[in-house]
Amino acid sequence: MPDTVRVRFAPSPTGSFHVGGARTALFNWAFARRHQGVFVLRIEDTDRSRSTEASIGQILEALRWLGLDWDEGPPTPGYRQTERFEIYRAHAERLLGEGRAYRCRCTPATLDVLRKEAQALGQTFRYPGTCRDADVPASESHTLRLKVPTSGQTVVEDAILGTVSFDNDTLDDWILVRSDGTPTYNFCVVVDDVTMKITHAIRGNEHLNNTPKQLACYAALGYSAPVFAHLPLILAPDRSKMSKRHGATTVEEFRDQGIPREALINYLARLGWSHGDREILSPEEIAAHFDLAHVGKAGAVFDREKLLWLSLEWIKVMPPERLAAELEPFLARAGLPVPADRSYVARVADSLRERSHTLVEMAEQAAFYFRPPPAYDSQATAKFWTAEAPHRYTVLIKRMQSQEAFDAASLEGLYRGLAAEMGLKLVDLAQLTRIAITGKTESPPIFQVAALLGKAETLSRLEAALAAVEHRR
Ligand code: GLU
Repeated sequence: MPDTVRVRFAPSPTGSFHVGGARTALFNWAFARRHQGVFVLRIEDTDRSRSTEASIGQILEALRWLGLDWDEGPPTPGYRQTERFEIYRAHAERLLGEGRAYRCRCTPATLDVLRKEAQALGQTFRYPGTCRDADVPASESHTLRLKVPTSGQTVVEDAILGTVSFDNDTLDDWILVRSDGTPTYNFCVVVDDVTMKITHAIRGNEHLNNTPKQLACYAALGYSAPVFAHLPLILAPDRSKMSKRHGATTVEEFRDQGIPREALINYLARLGWSHGDREILSPEEIAAHFDLAHVGKAGAVFDREKLLWLSLEWIKVMPPERLAAELEPFLARAGLPVPADRSYVARVADSLRERSHTLVEMAEQAAFYFRPPPAYDSQATAKFWTAEAPHRYTVLIKRMQSQEAFDAASLEGLYRGLAAEMGLKLVDLAQLTRIAITGKTESPPIFQVAALLGKAETLSRLEAALAAVEHRR
């Protein structure tokens, strides 16, 4: 391992920020943390027509939300490629001066003809090197091309994939600088990785084919290349490329679904990387143990059920205050009045944490804590609103009015006593109460719920249920 590990996450801000990008960011972050290295964030915005500020904003926000803090990068200037054109120009001039790159006057029209000829013969087009030795003067309109070896092999020793060889006759003298003076993508990546002293390039598999091209550029510049590590693709359950039609794919969508950051990080870490048979790993544990040796080579299938399971596990153990803070926006979004008293929300969340896979689900399940049920479940009323129901509600209301202690244990005592007196089972009275309070027959333990709601609210809901059941009969 070199003295200081320096890795980078280098997104192209051309659209929404997908989980594939987030996983690449996570692995780079974890690798840097594991080796006390430096995690650089670089924005690859050379393609001005496709890059947007909105997309950059989304990426930064998602990384912050995930807690993937970077050591170098925006807002410090100099980490966006559009701010680095001088650096690319200087490197291009050096390559030209040293005879490792040359001016090419071939126009797009000429190249198009050659491309079509190659296609007609069923061949892949490769630039034939027309201008390699033509000494094209600077005054002519030109691109700048790299002299690439055309025989032999380029071997990539990938930290994940092992040895990958490319025949050099599949390469050609690719363009470093376009005729309008703008540098090309692969050239910028190489110059950036060199000047940012990147030691390990951990990136998506889709960049493997760029690697031999980039290695030719490192060689021409006289620099050694970083260690490459190409991550397996993330696949949909049918093993096709993950896309919109498979449901949520962006970090923002998962956050909006109420999946805690720890759960998403945990899931993304396990998507391609394993740590023994441990399934549940905190971001800190991932940072302590992450290694490239345990990243799989094969595509990793995105399993939504597993993500939801992890989400539940992380909701279960979240400290109450934080869970409340996380839940509040989802309550507001569900149109529920959020009380100023966070400790109430914390107790509500606590009562639901074993049964909510997401915060969206928790907000739905929590609705009755914030307002009376808007309706009573018809199956529940069909079963429990019998001819005796009005009498039972009336007795419950009367006893409750004189009940002083309103904690769960006292309420249970009250109900047990009453059930015995009336020759009923506890469940008969409990379900009537549950329907009155929540509108349904399933909820967290009902005496806890009533205790949390308080006496006045519990009574008012029992009275409303009594009125409703009388009205029906
Ligand atoms: N900008 C590239 C992307 O967003 C990453 C390039 C690299 O990591 O070398 O896919």
